[in-house]
Amino acid sequence: MIVDLRNYRLGLVSNLSTAHGVVHQREGILVSVTDGEYVGWGDAAPMPGWSTSSLELVSASLAVAAANLETGIDATLDALEAVPEARAGLAGALADLTARRRGLSLSRSLDPGASASVAVNGLVSASDPAEAAADARRAFDTGIRTIKLKVAAGSPTLDLERAAAVRDAVGPDVELRLDANGGWTVPVALQMLDALAPLHISFCEEPVDSIAGIAEVGAASAVPVATDESARSVDDVAEAIGTGTIDVVVVKPSAIGGPDLAMQAIRLVREFGATPIVTTMVDSAVGVAHALHVAAASGVEMAHGLATSALLRDDVGESPPIIDGRMVVPDGPGIGVGPL
Ligand SMILES: [Mg+2]
Repeated sequence: MIVDLRNYRLGLVSNLSTAHGVVHQREGILVSVTDGEYVGWGDAAPMPGWSTSSLELVSASLAVAAANLETGIDATLDALEAVPEARAGLAGALADLTARRRGLSLSRSLDPGASASVAVNGLVSASDPAEAAADARRAFDTGIRTIKLKVAAGSPTLDLERAAAVRDAVGPDVELRLDANGGWTVPVALQMLDALAPLHISFCEEPVDSIAGIAEVGAASAVPVATDESARSVDDVAEAIGTGTIDVVVVKPSAIGGPDLAMQAIRLVREFGATPIVTTMVDSAVGVAHALHVAAASGVEMAHGLATSALLRDDVGESPPIIDGRMVVPDGPGIGVGPL
């Protein structure tokens, strides 16, 4: 098998400000693996401020893995476990290749009962309440029925106004979830969620920045809580759901180490009766396609965080279409997306 690594740099429609800093562009590495007949594609793209690995480390780790692949796939993937974004790129490309060889879509290769489309959420992060409401309404008008509102970047009063404005704009039947990116303390999170509960919040991602803290909030709050960046590995996910007070776990295939590890985490979460939600890390079209196939194989009907391609000014290929609030799973072999 031959591995090829190709760096890319994608412009963003506007700078992404997260609770962890500002991102100006999206950089990553496209990984392709060929057996001479088929080609599988993967995306390795650490997010600055979110990932603990740098692009340089991911690149160097992939170069070593590419040189060692012939000595054994399992050992090569195991050696990448400390650099999960690199593992995601190679494991993703290998999973895509295997599915293409079998003539199956990646989702059906992960689970024969995978769905043909998945609901996606709209992401609202505008700080001005009227602007946030308009963004939510625009998403609603395209058929989206779940809105995720970023909170904790401004004052509590502003967040209360923003959430109320968004709820008002989309009406009572839309699922409204929050993401605080770990920006609150436990007492503030409890106060905020108590104040926001009348708006019927389905759950809040990362109200505080640790598994123990999120579990503490979950035990005392009327609003269910979710881990995202606090639970980065399958072991972390096991710890999070083991607390018994965390109801939702966000799983990012590109951050946890690829589709196989994402499916492991998803099965674990479901066994505990909790809900896994699959999201991208503002990935390229290849990464989005991987996340889509994992989401389709997850068996979870709630909306997943896949509608992120519009944040990119250019891309490595074409992301699967979103029709009436649902991303349609390509039914061709593999991920159904190949870089152009
Ligand atoms: Mg999140």
